[in-house]
Amino acid sequence: MPSFQNYKHQWLDGSDVALPSGKVVCVGRNYAEHAKELNNPIPTEPLLFMKPATSLVDFTNPVLIPKGFGTVHYEAEISVLIGKRLSVCTDADVALDSVTGVGAALDLTLRDLQSDLKSKGQPWEKAKAFDGACPVSPFVSTAMIPDFEDIKISLKIDEALVQSGSSEEMLTGVSDLLCYISTFFTLEPGDIVLTGTPKGVGAITEGRKLTLGLADQFEWCSLTQ
Ligand code: ZN
Repeated sequence: MPSFQNYKHQWLDGSDVALPSGKVVCVGRNYAEHAKELNNPIPTEPLLFMKPATSLVDFTNPVLIPKGFGTVHYEAEISVLIGKRLSVCTDADVALDSVTGVGAALDLTLRDLQSDLKSKGQPWEKAKAFDGACPVSPFVSTAMIPDFEDIKISLKIDEALVQSGSSEEMLTGVSDLLCYISTFFTLEPGDIVLTGTPKGVGAITEGRKLTLGLADQFEWCSLTQ
């Protein structure tokens, strides 16, 4: 199993973030073009799910692809690291002020298992929240992200660009998303929010090189095993 026990949030320079590893709150279908590619309806409000802290691993270590559970899909997403508690928030500025870092992440998904669970009307956790299901990059200080309304995210597999998007394409932008989440789940320092994936998701297998790009400035590489 992936070594989530060793996982700690890190800054860009490799130093540890002085925050615990918390839960990961994720939004599904936050880009219209991605909802369409999986033949899902475009939601009228954010579709939320969670991954536990035990799903977190460092993206820059080899990404372990689960074997024996059917197709594994990558989903590249902008991640935000919470630095201040946020609960029942209705103010976009307060919501953005709760964010201390921004990074890139993979929402690894056991797609066959998810489809099976969905068809039975059962929860998705086994397909989305397993150990190692959330490889995350180091975090960039929010001071280095000038505009939350236009943060670029990209993923290359073996040098081929497979996903490319911007937060400006989100159905629910970062500040509104944080407010919406905080209505149901208090966000604590050390929690992460994954903000949804642009179109271009697909299967991933071992022996590939992955490159996550953020804000056209930052890039992290990994290998799949
Ligand atoms: Zn996702």
